[in-house]
Amino acid sequence: MKQLWLAIKDLPPEGKEIIINDQSVWQGPIDEFALPYTIKEELAACIFLIPQEQGCIAHGSITGAVALPCNRCTQNALVRINQNFDEVFILDEDLSSDDTEPNVRIANESTGIEIEIAGVLWEEFVIALPVKPLCKEDCKGLCAECGKDLNTGKCECEDSTLDPRFAVLRNLKVNK
Ligand SMILES: [Zn+2]
Ligand SMILES: [Zn+2]
Repeated sequence: MKQLWLAIKDLPPEGKEIIINDQSVWQGPIDEFALPYTIKEELAACIFLIPQEQGCIAHGSITGAVALPCNRCTQNALVRINQNFDEVFILDEDLSSDDTEPNVRIANESTGIEIEIAGVLWEEFVIALPVKPLCKEDCKGLCAECGKDLNTGKCECEDSTLDPRFAVLRNLKVNK
């Protein structure tokens, strides 16, 4: 996973807005985890960073658009991303307390405290994605029998197959 470390000491006390539009922040994990997401409109994060004594506070937003498979028909569903987030980065003095990789560190004395921003940008992007994306609200999906994309027209299967009561009746006829 890509990491982007920022030094807090470079921030003015009143805070500073930064833009991160390095696509590899998102494209990296998409490739790494072989996710079926295609960036359709460049993703960009606009983050206001306010330095704190042991870290910083971030108010950010991520915008852009991605395509992912429709939950019903598997065709591309375009999803607009507009995700706001707040994150607090505070240096954890007790590094032995947990085994998750810290996102605040002191790399060396000259750079001072640094925060890792790429992780939160990926997490917030994932949170912004719908659980069941649809290519369109009234997507008809695929036929459960033959797999045809019903948005492109009807298939040869009988509608009655969708209703188990009719299926039972048909079987009775067949069995006679
Ligand atoms: Zn669909
Ligand atoms: Zn069918």
